[in-house]
Amino acid sequence: MRGVCGAGRAAATATCRDGGPDGVRQRAGRWRAVGRYDHCVSDCLFCGIASGQIPARTVRENSRTIAFRDINPQAPTHVLVIPKEHYADVAAVAEAGGGLLDEMASLAHRVAVAEGIGSGYRVVFNSGPGAGQDVPHAHAHVIGGRPLEWPPG
Ligand code: AMP
Ligand code: ZN
Repeated sequence: MRGVCGAGRAAATATCRDGGPDGVRQRAGRWRAVGRYDHCVSDCLFCGIASGQIPARTVRENSRTIAFRDINPQAPTHVLVIPKEHYADVAAVAEAGGGLLDEMASLAHRVAVAEGIGSGYRVVFNSGPGAGQDVPHAHAHVIGGRPLEWPPG
C-alpha cells in the first residue's frame, strides 16, 4: 500500500480528512487532496504524523522522510524514521526502489550522530506481525544511548 502524505508538511493547510474542503474521495480509505498533499491513508497514524495532523516530536526531516521521537522510548534515544509516503512495511519500501530505503538509512544515521550515539546504535525494522510490527506504515527504530543486548528478543 502506497500513498503520498505530508510532502508539504511545513505549510500543511490541506486536509486528509473525510469531507475536508481540499479532499475528494479517491477510493475507500484513501483521499486525494489538491493542496500540498497528493493523498494519504486516512486512518494511518504515521501518515497523520507525516502530514502534521497528529503531533509528534520531530527531530529531523527531508523531502521524503521524517524522524520523530517514539512515544514509548525503549532507550535514551529512540527515534522513528518513516517515509512520508505510505508503505505498509520495509518490504514495500524495498520493492518500490527509487532510493527511498537509502534515504531512510541515511536519515537514521544522521539522527544517531546528532543524538551523540554515532559510535553505537541500532536500526530496527519490525516487519510483519510475526516480528511485532504494530503500526502498518514502514518505520525504522533508531535506538541507542544504553548498552544494547544481542540477540534482541
Ligand atoms: P512497531 O511495533 O515496530 O510497529 O513500532 C511502532 C512504534 O510506534 C512503537 O515503538 C510505539 O511506541 C510507537 N508509537 C506509537 N504511536 C506513536 C505516536 N503517536 N508517536 C510516536 N511514536 C508512536
Ligand atoms: Zn501511513
